[in-house]
Amino acid sequence: MFAFFFQKRINKLYNLFIDKQAQLSLQQIIPEKKFIDIEGQLEEYSAQKKAQIQMLLQREGFQKEFIGNLAHELKTPTFNIQGYLLTLLEGGINDPSINLKYLQGAEKSLNRMIQILEDLDAISKFDSDRIELSLKPCLLLDLLEEIQEELHMKFKNNNTLFELEIPENIVVLADKKRIKQVFINLINNAIKYGKPNGKIRIDTTMVNHKVAVRVSDNGLGMASKHLERIFERFYRVEESRSRHLGGSGLGLAIVKSIIEQHGEQISVQSEVGLGTTFTFTLKKA
Ligand code: ADP
Repeated sequence: MFAFFFQKRINKLYNLFIDKQAQLSLQQIIPEKKFIDIEGQLEEYSAQKKAQIQMLLQREGFQKEFIGNLAHELKTPTFNIQGYLLTLLEGGINDPSINLKYLQGAEKSLNRMIQILEDLDAISKFDSDRIELSLKPCLLLDLLEEIQEELHMKFKNNNTLFELEIPENIVVLADKKRIKQVFINLINNAIKYGKPNGKIRIDTTMVNHKVAVRVSDNGLGMASKHLERIFERFYRVEESRSRHLGGSGLGLAIVKSIIEQHGEQISVQSEVGLGTTFTFTLKKA
């Protein structure tokens, strides 16, 4: 009688916490279970729910932060364009000392907005899993020589020494277009945050049957407190330098997404004043 009374109360408690499907099985289980087992199950259930709530709250926080950052990023170029155009409309168009300069300024800000939008587009495709990788064997040295050719003018203008130390026969299994994007983002950063007459070196090693690719520069480097955050969207070590150089703050977030889509990992090592090395793995084909 006493046990029956207790079990009825416990059933009621279960009904409060556990979903319909679980109730059915618990009703069958209760008569045979000891209270200690029931307590354990409830604790486990409560821990699961707590973790779920935590995850949802964190996701909500990320989303709010992302929208705030995005508005902040778009505000500056939009107001710049507005300022240039208003001055031109109010008569500046007839002033040869500013008309061309202001149009060029407006175009520069517009290019910044386009860069941000293109990067956002790439990121949102990754987020919604709309990207299907086309994995094919790819000769790494060929890909990097192609990139070297494309960035040739940038290297020349910055007097950057670009070194490739990649064995001729390394073939990786990768989506060529996306991995090219990874290299371009990392190399562009190495130039942007490099020293004048700096050096960029790309080499490979074999780690557990995988190819570990290293992209190193001898540029400004970063303090260790930044390293775990630089792959976050819009995170920058030096806001003004990044903006001035046309960065969207999304380049490394895109790099990380692409590497993770390949099921691989990326890490960074850096020392202020000495330089930075990004290392990521790729599957050997
Ligand atoms: P950004 O558009 O600002 O370059 P990224 O996501 O590409 O955005 O990089 C995030 C931040 O990480 C940069 O603002 C910069 O402060 C830092 N960073 C990235 N690459 C390097 C590098 N090779 N050397 C020094 N700092 C770097």
